[in-house]
This record gives sequence, structure tokens and C-alpha cells, in this order.
Amino acid sequence: MQEEPFQSYEQERTHWLTLYLRLPAEGVAAEFPTESICENRLEAVRWPQGPICPNCKEKNFGYLEARKLYYCKKCPTHFSLTSGTLFHRRRLDLRVYFLLAEKLIEAEVKRLRPTGHQIKDEYQIAYATAFKLKANISNALKDAEGGLLGRCICIRELHLPPDLDRETTGHLNWLENELQQRQWQSLGY
Ligand SMILES: [Zn+2]
Repeated sequence: MQEEPFQSYEQERTHWLTLYLRLPAEGVAAEFPTESICENRLEAVRWPQGPICPNCKEKNFGYLEARKLYYCKKCPTHFSLTSGTLFHRRRLDLRVYFLLAEKLIEAEVKRLRPTGHQIKDEYQIAYATAFKLKANISNALKDAEGGLLGRCICIRELHLPPDLDRETTGHLNWLENELQQRQWQSLGY
């Protein structure tokens, strides 16, 4: 059985609100318009110092362009940008993951979780795939900072007051207030 990642309602709400408020101002679709931009973003987040062999941690490797596969010259390891991540062996574009993660973060904050059927219709994928994808992405986003996927799309800086104690009611109130402000702004006040 999987351990419940949140100890309290406040902690859970703080987590999702932080991710939500850090989503791109213009939305994920506009910020990451193509598959190669999504790949570049994942590479920058996963390997900030450039690709690294997951086995021996060396940086001496070749690259098979056609298969988008790296091969280590120090040990017999092949690896790709997505191996060892939740995107490994995916059949869908990385961009679908980015878009769906944004939708699921928003749904957590607004308490409007989409059904497997809604996802199936919106992304034109099989229901079983949609259902599994939703569960996998929701789970991955529960990791600190939203995990690898969350860190790819949550790019906005949040300017929390430096003296604000983290993981307190004050922290959550600050986030709720920020959400309120943004909603007023979007309505033109
Ligand atoms: Zn290696």
C-alpha cells in the first residue's frame, strides 16, 4: 500500500496551491508549444549540468541520433532522456503529460477532478490509457515540488515573504490570499 504523502489537509492544500500559483502565466500550452520545446525543458530540469550515465554517473558517452539514445563509454549502459522517469516507454507525447499535469493541478485547487472519460475525449486516447495516465500523473505530482514533471511546468517564481514560516497556517493563508488576488486581477479589478 502506498503511504499517504500528506499529513494533513493544510499540508496537502499548501502543496497544490504552490504548484498552481507557479504554473506559467500564459498557460502550459503557450509556454511549451511543441514537443521539442518540452524535451528541452525536461532535459534542462533532469540534467542541469548535461546528460549523465544513470549507472556510473560518468559523462563520457556517445549518442545515437536516430534512436535518441545515449550509450556510456565507461560501462555497458544505454539510456535516454526519459529512462528511469515516469515518461519511460510512453506512447504519448511529452506535451500531453505537461498539459495534463497543468489540468490536474488546477483541478486539485478548484476541487474539480476530471474523470477518465473527460481525459479520453479531450486527448483522443483510449479510456484505459486515460485512466492510468491520470492516476500516474496525479501520484507523481504529489512528490516534493511536484516531482520531475511538476518542476518542468511550475516555472513562476513565488515571492514569499522571507520571514514567513513554511508549512504553517500563515504560509497557507499567504497562498490563499495570492490566489484571491490573481482571481481579482483576472476579472479586471
Ligand atoms: Zn556508465
